Amino acid sequence: MTPGPYDWIDEELTRLDQKTLRRRAREVVPISGGQCEIDGKRLWNFSGNDYLGLASHPSVIAAARSALESGVGARASALVSGRTNWHVELEQKLAAFKKTEAAILFPTGFAANFGAITSCVGNEDVVFCDRLNHASLVDGARHSKAKLRIYPHRDFDFLHDELRKSASYRRKLIITDSYFSMDGDIAPLKELGELAETFNAMLLVDEAHATGVFGPTGGGLLEEAELNPDRVICVGTLSKALGSQGGFVVGSQPLCDWLWNTARTGMFSTGLSIPNCAGASAAIDVVIAEPERREWVLRTSTHVREQLRNMNWDVPQDVVGPIIPVIVGSADETLRLTRSLQDEGILVAGIRPPTVPRQSARLRISLSFDHGDESIDALLAAFRRIRQDFD
Ligand code: PMP
Repeated sequence: MTPGPYDWIDEELTRLDQKTLRRRAREVVPISGGQCEIDGKRLWNFSGNDYLGLASHPSVIAAARSALESGVGARASALVSGRTNWHVELEQKLAAFKKTEAAILFPTGFAANFGAITSCVGNEDVVFCDRLNHASLVDGARHSKAKLRIYPHRDFDFLHDELRKSASYRRKLIITDSYFSMDGDIAPLKELGELAETFNAMLLVDEAHATGVFGPTGGGLLEEAELNPDRVICVGTLSKALGSQGGFVVGSQPLCDWLWNTARTGMFSTGLSIPNCAGASAAIDVVIAEPERREWVLRTSTHVREQLRNMNWDVPQDVVGPIIPVIVGSADETLRLTRSLQDEGILVAGIRPPTVPRQSARLRISLSFDHGDESIDALLAAFRRIRQDFD
């Protein structure tokens, strides 16, 4: 019998099953206080990106609720009539928070990276991309038609050599995550900034996981590195520490004007929903007013890493901040450990290829201010218990 046009899907899914690489999205019931419920079982949720607990902060909820009076949806794309007063307020807040001239919003962080890169380079240009950058950076670079040069993770000496050999291109763009979401380590931003200046290259930094968590006022790792923010294309998302949804680019006014005119992922998509904008604006106020949230996360991360290493778990040395990878190696073993942790009442993400390179599957713990000390004790006790089965 001739195969039907969709039969290949079942075959491919079976292949993923056989390699233990099939993913399934579960139904998760969020419970404030850093917990959630899956299949009726209450778990400490160490797998989210709500690092500061702002998704359920009372003033963030109150702001989103009161903005609902203006409606839910933006009703149009920003350039038509979807850039409401709520969007303008958020743009201004983001620009002030990140100390830049201007900001532009996107439907998601993915769309912000994709739109910014494809607007800034084309087929006469070259993009230098850290090997462990987020998929949205890689996909933006691929789609841009620029020459793509992947450099080894955080290796700015290698990048220096590559830049030296690239004088013939029209434009050069270096793209990097600032805080790597699967590795919990940080890019050498000062050095990348210097390389960009030396070689007259643009520098795009994705601050998705750093915004709100790092920097003297929570402005991110660019704030900590003290690079001139108007000389950088800074991308971020509202969906991690800011507890909302949506993406943004902050930078110079001409950069943002150019993106308004050319970034297709912004131009041809509906504006962010109004409660999202209001919630994110309120979240920025909380980041600034309550530094104890990020201080707790950074302090607790140091404690958790030390304790895990004492139990002989493989936590790489360069890890900082709320994301703590525990390297396991095999995808099967990682899956087994996430199940054991779940039996212990702890939800952590098991990260497998292709999200991370082969044989580097890992457990990824992410901390949130919502957790509080009690849950950290539960987390460490669970890792201590499952260690016996792992040896
Ligand atoms: N950049 C990085 C580094 C990310 O981890 C993510 C989200 N996983 C994004 C961009 C995309 O952000 P969003 O979820 O807002 O699309």
